[in-house]
Amino acid sequence: MSTARFLLGLQETDQQLAMCRRAYRQIVEELDSEGGVPELTADLEKARVRQLELKVEAARNESEAASLRDRVKQLEERLYSGSITNVRELTAIETEHNTARRELARVDEAIGPSKSAAEEAEQAHQRLESELEERQQEWSVRRKELRKERSRIGTEYKKIGAERETATADIPAPDLETYNALLPRMNGIAVVKVDRGVCQGCRVRLPIGEISRMQNAAGLVNCSSCGRILLTE
Ligand SMILES: [Zn+2]
Repeated sequence: MSTARFLLGLQETDQQLAMCRRAYRQIVEELDSEGGVPELTADLEKARVRQLELKVEAARNESEAASLRDRVKQLEERLYSGSITNVRELTAIETEHNTARRELARVDEAIGPSKSAAEEAEQAHQRLESELEERQQEWSVRRKELRKERSRIGTEYKKIGAERETATADIPAPDLETYNALLPRMNGIAVVKVDRGVCQGCRVRLPIGEISRMQNAAGLVNCSSCGRILLTE
């Protein structure tokens, strides 16, 4: 029974080690995420390109409107100069004038919305810029904490691991092997107590004969139902 009792203590140690590993892995994952800074940087770049595109579009609308205005003015000058006497030529210029005016109206109408779209995109870009700055500052603080914590857990893990190594030196090798094989299969619980004849691992009541056999057994006794190592009071 003393080996089973010792293995129960070892199990606590192994649970601590598993907790360290989990905590360590979480920290590594969070460090890998870089606090969302890469995603935000990519978003900012998209916003930068978007506001540039919209600025270019607004400027293009304005310059297009200006040249259309010139064109309309030129055509009007020709139309009303009195120099064109040919009807076909006059009709052709009138048609061109109408087309240019329609086009000018269309472009003029687009100027306002394209300008406000460009302004909105610029504001969105600025907002993202300050958000990123803030995020980077937060992350640099958090990263320091995480690295410190990672190194603390790493040291603790090594310390507990070394203690485990020393503690297991006296356990019979086959018993240790049984325990080590059971631990991962039983979700980290390989040794359980028997409470009032019931295995605390699987909650199955053990046959009376099995309990007395267990109390007299020299080596480890496993639960006939779940296979865990049993420890009686
Ligand atoms: Zn059991």
